[in-house]
Amino acid sequence: MTKIDTERFVADAMLGKLVTYMRMAGYDVLYAPDEDAVGDDEVARLADETGRVLVTRDVELSEQTGGVLIKSKQVEGKLQELIDAGLSFDLTETEPERCSVCNGTLTETDVSDEDVPDDIERAWRCEDCGKVYWKGSHWDNVRRTFESV
Ligand SMILES: [Zn+2]
Repeated sequence: MTKIDTERFVADAMLGKLVTYMRMAGYDVLYAPDEDAVGDDEVARLADETGRVLVTRDVELSEQTGGVLIKSKQVEGKLQELIDAGLSFDLTETEPERCSVCNGTLTETDVSDEDVPDDIERAWRCEDCGKVYWKGSHWDNVRRTFESV
């Protein structure tokens, strides 16, 4: 299997939770339903027109587009399949880069301006939707999920 050498992906409708994990790891991932791409042809066209690799559960679509086929049902298995395809998931040294809701770019913000827990020293804000992120319990949970794979 050839390794994927890109940070830019499209994920199809069955993979919403995986999209969140990929964005938290810093990958630039469009979620097809958010882009109004529903049918197979639309999803394939979206990947083609945006120059992205498709991540899909559909065998034919993965063959047709040269995308990554995801077979596992559990998120750990899905992550393992992406790792096998050449992606890496490690939050130990990573800072939040991508909004897991809208895929916007995060920039560091002043914690004193934000509504974050008292013990949080750094926070990041989405340039597109304004959601604020910090490395709290959710981040740690995801980091542990990555480490378990
Ligand atoms: Zn956002």
